[in-house]
Amino acid sequence: MSGLTVGVLGTGIMGAAMARNLVKAGHVVRVWNRSPDKAAPLEKDGAHLAASPADAVSEADVVLTMLYDGDAVAEVMRQAAPGLQAGASWVQSTTASLESVAEMARFAEEQGVVFFDAPVLGTRQPAEAGQLTILAAGPVEHRTAVEPVFQAVGARTVWTGEDGSAGSSTRLKLVANSWVLAATHGIGEALALAKGLGVDPEDFFGLISGGPLDMGYLRAKGDAILQGRLSPASFAVVTAEKDARLIVDAGRNHGVRLNVAEAGAERFRRAAELGHGDEDMAASYYASF
Ligand code: NAP
Repeated sequence: MSGLTVGVLGTGIMGAAMARNLVKAGHVVRVWNRSPDKAAPLEKDGAHLAASPADAVSEADVVLTMLYDGDAVAEVMRQAAPGLQAGASWVQSTTASLESVAEMARFAEEQGVVFFDAPVLGTRQPAEAGQLTILAAGPVEHRTAVEPVFQAVGARTVWTGEDGSAGSSTRLKLVANSWVLAATHGIGEALALAKGLGVDPEDFFGLISGGPLDMGYLRAKGDAILQGRLSPASFAVVTAEKDARLIVDAGRNHGVRLNVAEAGAERFRRAAELGHGDEDMAASYYASF
């Protein structure tokens, strides 16, 4: 199916790639970004530049938010409100807290739009290739309205529930990210220790090669660290720190202690303090020195 009008709010690493794939799929795409220079290059790809959030969502069948965090979403959607069409669908893909998701769902109800809690798995390259995994929760009877959007940006949609306000997709996303972030710090610390102890990292890779401790993610992030290829980021340190704090808080609010995630948030904070905030989260490595 084609022919939807989609308003994309937030054209950072992920939002820009998603907007391009929506254009490629034949949809009319209206983009807005707080810093206009990040939205401007999308015009040559066929997106329409909007002057404001309200302008971006005017005439939109589907609104896609891909912003930094829940506060940014609340602020931008307040600005978008005068342009929202009653009955439109809102695909909310920013990684946010469960409390923010519940507030967004309330706001959607007030505005007469249909809310989908829809965070994504996958980073810059899968986003550019339209190969994200979308975790989605929202009412069955409205899913056909958003499925063309998911098909354009993703390879797979995992439906987790019918009530977006319960945040079932965000819950699963936070669990998955707790694993990804822990793995990222594990890689950074193992390579930092190797450097400190004078161990050739290739000896470490060779030792675990082909066994259950080996993994593609270790090789990809390990190579990026060793070759100093941390810019442009796939997932920036400052965004990863935000997610780490969401994970720690979600655990705390549900009676779960997450010491590793807490230490990980601190590693990201230190890496950012050392000037690596805009680099890929693999720059957690630098927090060891
Ligand atoms: P990004 O490149 O830093 O983009 C963040 C976007 O949020 C930018 O458009 C930024 O605008 C905007 N923004 C931040 N604060 C704002 C505010 N107060 N008002 C208006 N706009 C604001 O980040 P990203 O990597 O695309 O991530 C976007 C979301 O997807 C995050 O929630 C992240 O956790 C999640 N995510 C990321 C990845 C990944 O691998 N990168 C994967 C899955 C999910 P400016 O350009 O003006 O700063």
